[in-house]
Amino acid sequence: MTQRQSTERSAVEALAGGLMGLQSVQSVELARLMTLGFDACAIPVALFAPDDTIAFANDAYRALMNVTADARTFGDVVRHAYRTGRGPVLSMEPEAWLAMASSRRRVREVRSFEVDFLDGSWYMVTESCLEGGWIWDFYTDITSLKSKEHTLLVARDSALRDADTDLLTGLHNRRYGVSELDHQIGVAARRGTNLAVVLIDLDHFKSINDTLGHSAGDDVLTHFAAEVTQLVRRGDTFARYGGEEFLLIMPGAGEREALAAMERARQTIEASAMQVLGHSYTFSSGVARMTARDDVKTLLRRADMALYAAKRAGRNCSQVAELPSP
Ligand code: GH3
Ligand code: MG
Ligand code: MG
Repeated sequence: MTQRQSTERSAVEALAGGLMGLQSVQSVELARLMTLGFDACAIPVALFAPDDTIAFANDAYRALMNVTADARTFGDVVRHAYRTGRGPVLSMEPEAWLAMASSRRRVREVRSFEVDFLDGSWYMVTESCLEGGWIWDFYTDITSLKSKEHTLLVARDSALRDADTDLLTGLHNRRYGVSELDHQIGVAARRGTNLAVVLIDLDHFKSINDTLGHSAGDDVLTHFAAEVTQLVRRGDTFARYGGEEFLLIMPGAGEREALAAMERARQTIEASAMQVLGHSYTFSSGVARMTARDDVKTLLRRADMALYAAKRAGRNCSQVAELPSP
């Protein structure tokens, strides 16, 4: 008797043993037909004894899991797959993976989970636990569903990014900036930490457009965005608030730090604009520090008033908003 025949025979016996209620000869014949049927179908199927010995595995299962003739248990299959680099993707060393898998096998009557394979395919495994600890595993090929899901997730992530991003400068847009400010106000209020916001507006921007053209105006916006992005700290949020207006959110910062950041930005723009763009430009800004009673609206309103004061003071400067009266 060949090894394959012997395996099939023990599979038939195992199946017969598993089919409670049907009697001897009839059940053996039925089990033989079922074995043939399982082998003929493309759905990977396996039956495991309570000690995880492979009682039966159809051809599709053997091919998928790379089961060799000498594999006796589920553990043998997994270890061999790991050694040969063919079979399921293991997220950890095989022994740790097997311990994790064993702790989940047989805990419920029926459970389903997704498994990815080293060849890129995906299967939904349905595990049915029978009396006494026997389990059937059925594998459904979900590769094409997974691939569509992946495409959709990538498209969704890209759409979410686009919805929060300003097309021209690549900065966060106003929608994101305002929602982040709302979040940071909550964080600062809970922790009792400082939070400074700065509204920045480029000076005489209309005349840049008028004299040098709209495209040169766009270059100024892109230049300003790139230069200031280099200056802001990690944790700060820099967003395009409107046409030539920008919002800087500085968690942990007070007026002094915000003014220092604006002075650094002023020096950087002064030093690089002529070199990069062939002409200079300036900006004005208004700084406001959050108080316990501030929300997005009141904080932005005070920053805007400070910005307006900076414009009135002659532009190319920063002003600090007064704290609201108690
Ligand atoms: P001020 O110093 O008082 O801020 O003067 P300003 O000229 O900068 O302000 P104003 O609000 O009069 O003009 C802003 C200009 O910004 C008008 C608008 O055409 C231009 N602008 C807004 N968005 C864009 C953009 O995406 N690209 C370009 N090139 N121009 C823009
Ligand atoms: Mg403006
Ligand atoms: Mg302006």
